[in-house]
Amino acid sequence: MPAPFHASANALFHTEVRQVSRLSPGFVRITLAGAQLNRFAAHGLDQRIKILVPSGPYPAVFGDELLHESEWRRHWRDLSASDRPALRSYTTSAVRPDQREVDVDFYVHARPGPASSWAEAASVGQRLLISGPSSRLSENRHGIQWSPGTATRVLLAGDETAFPAIRGIVSAMRPMIRATIILETGDPLDAAWLAREVRGHTVTVHRRGAADGGGSALRRAVAAWTRGAGSGAAVLGEDFYAWLATESRQVSALRGLLLGAGIAPAQVHAQGYWNDRPRT
Ligand SMILES: Cc1cc2nc3c(=O)[nH]c(=O)nc-3n(C[C@H](O)[C@H](O)[C@H](O)COP(=O)(O)OP(=O)(O)OC[C@H]3O[C@@H](n4cnc5c(N)ncnc54)[C@H](O)[C@@H]3O)c2cc1C
Repeated sequence: MPAPFHASANALFHTEVRQVSRLSPGFVRITLAGAQLNRFAAHGLDQRIKILVPSGPYPAVFGDELLHESEWRRHWRDLSASDRPALRSYTTSAVRPDQREVDVDFYVHARPGPASSWAEAASVGQRLLISGPSSRLSENRHGIQWSPGTATRVLLAGDETAFPAIRGIVSAMRPMIRATIILETGDPLDAAWLAREVRGHTVTVHRRGAADGGGSALRRAVAAWTRGAGSGAAVLGEDFYAWLATESRQVSALRGLLLGAGIAPAQVHAQGYWNDRPRT
């Protein structure tokens, strides 16, 4: 039986924090630097990485060579529960192999888990292991979900955790593509930096109230969009594509709204980015 993750193009990069910048009340941009990052593949878009959130001293078990994903996961599983770093998914906000740097934009959740807490307290010089695409392993787009084909009309919808991916996707769009962008945020200031960067497209920002669960304001906004524009999008066929990412329990409802309007399943990517419930 093949090893799990044998087809992954990811390797484990050793980095340390070079800069911490506050983008808005809820967002921290962390610039990571590392000698091996000249090999980090700069695919952009919604490139997923894994971060290994340290739970104690820097884990020596990973050595300092670039380990393939199947290998570092084996070492990770062998660690005791108390020493094992928490794994969390993030998006590369910028990759500069020539400067051996990667930026990651962290949204700090109102009830922060290990990754949000790490980002909130991060300071220059702290070390972080990240698993991401190595240009030496493969040129394939491992960890990228954005796949619009020939579509020139697109819908992008997400809460704060998806803002870095939406930014990456929009910045790489061909000029003829017109996007409708629906954003959910707890604080409008956290959407303001993104809204500035995606100017030229149709952007609406929907506020999550204190009593709302994650993603519920987004679901209401996508439902309203579907009532007005869903059937028109459906008749576009392959000329329309939707990418949505938010709280996990909202995902099937979002997908259902679009499919209910007659949009073909192949034209919809909907993904859970976080869980608004206690972890076990
Ligand atoms: C492909 C992908 C890309 C992503 N990119 C980004 C990105 O670029 N930037 C970004 O900010 N996020 C991104 N995310 C989302 C990020 O992975 C999640 O937000 C992640 O869960 C944050 O980890 P955490 O350790 O801070 O919080 P977690 O421990 O994962 O907790 C998240 C939330 O769960 C709830 N929760 C957890 N524990 C408890 C508890 N004990 N009691 C009550 N509630 C609790 C809380 O609501 C908490 O805020 C991405 C996710 C995916 C799948």
